[in-house]
Amino acid sequence: MKQPLIVANWKCNPTTLAEAQKLLKTIEKGVKNIKKVEVVICPPFVYLSGFRFRASGFRLGAQDCFWEEKGAFTGEISAKMLKGLGCKYVIIGHSERKGHLKETNEMIAKKMKAAIAAGLKPIFCIGETQKEKREGQGLRTLNSQISKGLKDIKEKEARNIIIAYEPVWAIGTGKPCEVDTTLTKSLIIRQVLKKRYSLSLSRKTRILYGGSVTSQNALKYIRGAKMNGLLVGGASLKAQEFSKIVKEVSKS
Ligand code: PEP
Repeated sequence: MKQPLIVANWKCNPTTLAEAQKLLKTIEKGVKNIKKVEVVICPPFVYLSGFRFRASGFRLGAQDCFWEEKGAFTGEISAKMLKGLGCKYVIIGHSERKGHLKETNEMIAKKMKAAIAAGLKPIFCIGETQKEKREGQGLRTLNSQISKGLKDIKEKEARNIIIAYEPVWAIGTGKPCEVDTTLTKSLIIRQVLKKRYSLSLSRKTRILYGGSVTSQNALKYIRGAKMNGLLVGGASLKAQEFSKIVKEVSKS
């Protein structure tokens, strides 16, 4: 398995390019000479072209992409444009986009296809809501999200995918998923991938955990839940805390 991936999802923050560059610089300073971890910074689209990494092991990612390459789609940003700006990764299907912007599994499937076609590695977000969890529908949700989101993705293309298990109830709530439960969910995701593609692909796919990750719990997900990395929201906006998370994971 490749080295762990720590993805910083800055969401709609900070509000100026100068602040964004300062945050990046402080994080880079904080994790100087860290090896064995790949750090992906996903700032808002408008800051992507203003980012240059000084530290090694840092990569650029976007928080979304559109499925068409170009055309009359006001306000959209295509996967090809992101590739041209130096992005290597793109987050697809984040629950905040599903919730606030009514993004559907069908839209997600098209974005997945477009991202791979453009040479980006999609970080495909899946996870159950609080209601689905309460009603015992968690596994059905994961199954459905995977089969719908990867509907048009062939095995060869699926090699580029990273899956982020992000229970919606754990995002930004300070209530992370139990480590044991996370391990179980990742094994289920691998089973689904095995059934859909092959044992080899299911073993090789990187699965990340996301949802209220802190420097206190980060390593537990890597060691205890055997996750291949983390998707970090709130804590990625605090340079010191995020650097600590990266340092913790580098111990794995
Ligand atoms: C996220 O935005 O994907 C996320 C996991 O957020 P947080 O770390 O704040 O829970």
